[in-house]
Amino acid sequence: MKLISADRMLPGPAGDCVDDGAVLVDGARIAAVGPREQLRHREHAEHEHFPGATLLPGLINAHVHLVFDDTAPDSATLVERVRTASDDELRAQAAEHARQALRSGVTTLRDCGDRGGITARLRDDIAAGHLPGPRLITTGPPLTVPAGHCWFLGGAAGTDAELREQVRRNARLGVDMIKVMASGGQITPGSAPSWQSQFDRDRLRLVVAEAEHRGLPVAAHAHGTTAIRDAVAAGVHTVEHCSWMTGPGEVHRDAATAAEMAARGVHACTASSRNWRRIIDSLPPEVADRVYGRLPWLAERGVGLITGTDAGLPSSPFDDLAGALELYVHLGFTAEHVVEMATTTSAAALGLGEVTGRLAPGLDADLLVVDGDPRTGVAALGAVRAVLARGAAVG
Ligand SMILES: [Zn+2]
Repeated sequence: MKLISADRMLPGPAGDCVDDGAVLVDGARIAAVGPREQLRHREHAEHEHFPGATLLPGLINAHVHLVFDDTAPDSATLVERVRTASDDELRAQAAEHARQALRSGVTTLRDCGDRGGITARLRDDIAAGHLPGPRLITTGPPLTVPAGHCWFLGGAAGTDAELREQVRRNARLGVDMIKVMASGGQITPGSAPSWQSQFDRDRLRLVVAEAEHRGLPVAAHAHGTTAIRDAVAAGVHTVEHCSWMTGPGEVHRDAATAAEMAARGVHACTASSRNWRRIIDSLPPEVADRVYGRLPWLAERGVGLITGTDAGLPSSPFDDLAGALELYVHLGFTAEHVVEMATTTSAAALGLGEVTGRLAPGLDADLLVVDGDPRTGVAALGAVRAVLARGAAVG
């Protein structure tokens, strides 16, 4: 058993703070949580105290691509590298990216698109203790149309029968959920533009039904307003990007769809990287507001937001969730709310509410210790002092 303590502890959700708080870790699990004074006398516990620091649950990055090379100079190079790399190369790269994320305090990653189920096998190796890494939730190759967004990952399907077969194939690969590219995207040459739908509502319904038959939730990549509306109507569980695009530079936020998302608990993961400041600076203010204003707009309508960065895309690294989270504060969210989103809210949205995302007895010992107090500035989340993933200290 080991006792980890710091000057303050944020067990989650927002509003909770224990001065001089401590977590007693027994193997992979949390055995007890409380003031250090109460827990320090437990026998056989080695004690590590972090003065000036905050102890909180490990962070969650709910939208990454572990097989993508974030150091590629542009998306064409990135696509070419993924297409031509061997499985072994992609596997090694994914393992390294997972390790980078873990060292930065991320103890749960959702991979939103790989090739050949590589991240499902990595998930199993990490869970078995063969490799250091965060808990992984994986989708395998995303479903897309022939020559569509990210077709090169192997999930293209042109007919109803092919769509069903891709869901079954991913289920056989051992994925945790199904990802479907409901709209076009930005990185695939020759594919539909972001605002255009790739699948209609009936096709999306078919995907959700086939996935549910195998106990798998569905994440829909959807930039276009029509794609978001159809995906939500079809019963998907999360909407990725949720950009409300209707044309080049055109945005129409659909309040009725947002209300349905809020009512049904469909969460949005806008997948914004740490490059948000550079992007905002490069845009006219009204355009920047059209793009990023959707985050507070969704939150005001009661849509749950989960945190993700699309790490793996060019210049979107795996080890700077904190930098990406500063966007929310820039948009007017309180830092404490942002911490809650990156832990408790995201865990619950991914079906992990009784596994991680809070510090409570019986949950996995996913712990982050950072300098300072992230409630006064989320940049503190980047000042990592210690990370424990399922009880294992990260070296
Ligand atoms: Zn993505």
